Amino acid sequence: MAEYDYDVLVIGAGPGGYVAAIRAAQLGLKTACADGRETLGGTCLNVGCIPSKALLHGSEKFDEVRNGTFDLYGIKTGPVTLDLTAMQAQKLDSVKSLTGGIEFLFKKNKVTWLKGYAAFEDAHSVTVAGQKVTARNIVIATGSSVTPLPGVTVDNDAGVIVDSTGGLALNRVPEHMVVIGGGVIGLELGSVWRRLGAKVTVVEFLDQLLPGMDGDVRKEAAKIFKKQGMDLKLSTKVTGVAVDGGKATLTVEPSKGGEASTIEADCVLVAIGRRPYVDGLGLDKIGLEVNARGQVETDHDFRTKIDGVWAVGDVIPGPMLAHKAEDEGIAVAENIAGLTGIVNHDLIPGVVYTFPEFAGVGLTEEAAKEKGEIKVGKFPMLANSRAKTNHEPDGFVKVISDAKTDRVLGVWCIASVAGTMIAQATQAMEFGATSEDIAYTCHAHPTHAEALKEAAMAVTGKPIHM
Ligand code: FAD
Ligand code: NAD
Repeated sequence: MAEYDYDVLVIGAGPGGYVAAIRAAQLGLKTACADGRETLGGTCLNVGCIPSKALLHGSEKFDEVRNGTFDLYGIKTGPVTLDLTAMQAQKLDSVKSLTGGIEFLFKKNKVTWLKGYAAFEDAHSVTVAGQKVTARNIVIATGSSVTPLPGVTVDNDAGVIVDSTGGLALNRVPEHMVVIGGGVIGLELGSVWRRLGAKVTVVEFLDQLLPGMDGDVRKEAAKIFKKQGMDLKLSTKVTGVAVDGGKATLTVEPSKGGEASTIEADCVLVAIGRRPYVDGLGLDKIGLEVNARGQVETDHDFRTKIDGVWAVGDVIPGPMLAHKAEDEGIAVAENIAGLTGIVNHDLIPGVVYTFPEFAGVGLTEEAAKEKGEIKVGKFPMLANSRAKTNHEPDGFVKVISDAKTDRVLGVWCIASVAGTMIAQATQAMEFGATSEDIAYTCHAHPTHAEALKEAAMAVTGKPIHM
């Protein structure tokens, strides 16, 4: 029998990798996790979910105070100024405390952090920081990186053409930021800089924002962001960006072709998606090929086709979301330990953390219709007592259910706390709920969540407050 240094070696310490490592150690397996970043937590904690939410939260407060929303409550403020350095510092504090938290959890659970980038030698050994390390099981959790836009060179240090990492670290508020890509990153970071004072133009190739979300939600998103002052150029593509000093000139034209025009900006955020990251991993050494989208493919247990090599997170197919990666991390560790680790990929909620938030789980109305007959119930946030009292009129909840069985197939939500509300919908759907089950569940009053109950009631045509 071969002897290995570890039972499990996880490559990458993002939400997929660090969670897999902690669960494997909790299950009694001798575990190491390799990552060459200065701090643990991967994209999510260092340059993704956490810093973006820190800036979204801070900029929302600034916007509220600056735009006189406080007046509504009789709160009088003086002149409001922005200390961007302090706002960036509170972001870094959050990142430091959370990445340090993972280091603490590694120590607590006896996970060894191998600080360096790992490259396969064979299916049971890698080189990390010049050392050969062997393991019975190796989990690839190397995540993703920014998709480049051909012909456009990102320089985060110069701060004129930036990707999400540069867009989170700007040390000045741009006068005019052009965001290329009206997806999640474009709208979250576009919201941050708009709230802090930039004019923001979003150039989106498709005819609507937020691909993958329900059609009604996408239409409403365009209305809401326009109302907030974003300039949306839908069905438009960027064909080139020229930089001269601190200024960028973008050439754009209709997606389907047509007359070109130019837009001047002092900051361009490229946010056209992310792609799986396997650079330098040496997959060729173990004969593992990526698919046409650059992803490592696995079976339902997260095994690759190479015995002893597993994979989770952004590097495998599915939505590139931290909670999806985390759940896969738990499942892969349980499968390695001989237990049954399962992830229901049909029910991964998605949330855009703008104001209001946009959230959804399950099928869109368009996808559900393609599968069969459906019923739809919708309830506006304007008719929800709590949203109305809080002066948050935008949004709605939409419940889509199977016309024959009433089983809920999808829930979509635009509300100030949509990201929190969607958890209930996800759990109900995980338990196979019908719209009637949600409608007859007692919801505390007054809460935004009551809008979900009313939307469920609307599936059979009987909401109370509409
Ligand atoms: P990652 O987090 O990318 O971690 C992979 C790690 O592997 C990295 O630390 C990398 O250094 C390491 N690595 C790579 N190669 C090697 C190697 N050869 N050896 C050792 N280590 C290696 N998702 C959400 O769910 N909610 C959000 O609010 C959200 N906000 C986001 C905001 C931004 C700006 C961005 C960019 C992303 C956001 N995401 C969000 C997506 C989320 O960050 C990812 O889905 C998640 O981090 C994926 O986790 P992962 O473990 O698969 O990979
Ligand atoms: P995205 O896929 O969400 O959006 C990219 C957008 O760019 C799409 O709308 C696409 O049509 C558009 N696009 C592509 N090429 C274009 C071009 N040449 N010109 C104009 N538009 C173009 O990708 P993203 O916003 O970069 O985010 C990347 C990933 O990170 C996503 O998969 C997302 O799941 C994850 N993320 C999640 C969150 C969250 O959960 N709140 C936040 C940030 C990032």
